[in-house]
Amino acid sequence: MTTKFDAIVIGAGLGGLAAAAMLAQKGRGVLLIEQHNVPGGYATSFVRGRYEWEVALHELSGIGPPDHRGDLYRLLEYLGVTQHVAFTRIPELYRSVFPDLDLVLPVGREAYEETLCTAFPHDADGIRRFLNRVHDLARELARFTGKGGIGNPLTAPFRFSKTLRYLPAAWGTVLNRDVKDPQARAVISQYWGYFGIGPAKVAFLYFASALSSYVKKGAAYVKGRSQALSNAFVKVVEANGGKVLFNTRVQQITCANGRVTGVTTRAGEQFQAPVVISNADPITTCRNLLGDIPQATRFLRKLRPAAVAPSSFNVYMGVACPPEKLGLSTHENFLNADPDFDRHYESMRHIGLPGITLATCYNAADPDISPPGTTSMVLTTLYYGTPWFELSPEQYVETKNRIADFMIDTAERIAPGLRSHTEVVEVATPITNMRYTTTMDGSIYGFDNTPFYHTVLRMGHQGPLDGLFFAGAYTQPGGGFEPCIMSGAMAARMAMKQIEKAQEEV
Ligand SMILES: Cc1cc2nc3c(=O)[nH]c(=O)nc-3n(C[C@H](O)[C@H](O)[C@H](O)COP(=O)(O)OP(=O)(O)OC[C@H]3O[C@@H](n4cnc5c(N)ncnc54)[C@H](O)[C@@H]3O)c2cc1C
Repeated sequence: MTTKFDAIVIGAGLGGLAAAAMLAQKGRGVLLIEQHNVPGGYATSFVRGRYEWEVALHELSGIGPPDHRGDLYRLLEYLGVTQHVAFTRIPELYRSVFPDLDLVLPVGREAYEETLCTAFPHDADGIRRFLNRVHDLARELARFTGKGGIGNPLTAPFRFSKTLRYLPAAWGTVLNRDVKDPQARAVISQYWGYFGIGPAKVAFLYFASALSSYVKKGAAYVKGRSQALSNAFVKVVEANGGKVLFNTRVQQITCANGRVTGVTTRAGEQFQAPVVISNADPITTCRNLLGDIPQATRFLRKLRPAAVAPSSFNVYMGVACPPEKLGLSTHENFLNADPDFDRHYESMRHIGLPGITLATCYNAADPDISPPGTTSMVLTTLYYGTPWFELSPEQYVETKNRIADFMIDTAERIAPGLRSHTEVVEVATPITNMRYTTTMDGSIYGFDNTPFYHTVLRMGHQGPLDGLFFAGAYTQPGGGFEPCIMSGAMAARMAMKQIEKAQEEV
């Protein structure tokens, strides 16, 4: 095998896969190196007994119905990924469950608004006002990120007045001005569990554009789980002449005169390229792969204001009973102890019992996802990773079993009999995430999307050296499937310019 490439991509998470697919599709010689034995990073699945579980994806944004395709679908189509993978529509948005409320939120701007206004008639005016604000801002943001871009900078402040106004605002601050009922606020903020940051801290721009997209276009799931999407990317890379190495860990990014020159693997193989795109997190990339060079130290110093986002805790359940017998008909069920989501978020910094459990019944999105007559159920909550490192091995086992037990009890509230019909259970913690992806603290969204660190205010794709780029959850536009895939495409576009520059110099 040749050892010289136009570009080397470290890591086959979604950011790395999208970057490699884009480069290969544009005719660049690309080598994608993944330490695990399958592609995907978090976008993967695993098998125990007769069940194969989705590891991460609950709801995929940006796909949209055939007559109203979203940005992500269009990008996947452009890359040729849609030739190898299919999507299913999730019928509703989500079910929001509290001790005294159980509400299913439908897809569609009017239906969503009407459901909320009917449930909270005393707050209907505020709810309508707030949702208009959300959709208006999202429309403006779509123009900003779309083909037209920022346009004439002199007139931009007038054309993007809402974006500028809300740039530093937190979701909770804007919401609380319009909507007064704490439970109504909570139901509208229910997706906070997807963004991993509480309503008082998450950037309004980020939440508003994501909510508007979900409400208007609905959410999708991947036929064959997210592993099928990751595999489809690999097919595109290979079909366009790219090379993919699994079970291979990059040990070092090599450089000379302030430029990258390639990588060395743990087994000692050397590969050369004028461009390296790292899908490993930027902190690990700088500390471990670049090592003790001043550019890496300076780069890390600039990242200091950014906080690493939470990790996940999952209980994967194979249940020998069909979903309808358990009373489950909705895909995503948010089970909340109470409407104080900011308290639930802050409690994720310690290993207590969770205030929120997501009970995801994958059969609602894909009836064939588990063997006939069974249910594939995943219970999810979030924790910051750091406290998990402090547990002894005995404490670790006791803690993970205790939390899993509590979450199963919580899920029994909407699915009586769940525990007694369970055939297989597997529990994953932030430590599991770290082990499989090596990402900092097992973070699943990169850095937190606070009002001062989101979308365009977030770390870009340029790394500390000429020719070094980043893709994935830590970079613009953020964590999650759609943003990470977008980030890979964005990094690849920048990398192509660098490849051309290097070719001109030869
Ligand atoms: C439980 C859970 C639920 C989620 N639900 C959703 C959801 O419903 N919707 C949504 O949009 N998002 C969801 N997410 C978030 C989403 O999965 C992530 O934000 C996204 O997949 C991260 O992609 P990434 O590009 O940052 O790469 P990662 O997934 O972090 O992958 C990085 C890859 O790099 C590899 N790597 C690292 N270092 C090296 C090295 N030195 N050499 C070789 N390879 C290396 C790793 O092995 C890994 O494969 C969820 C995540 C989890 C865990």
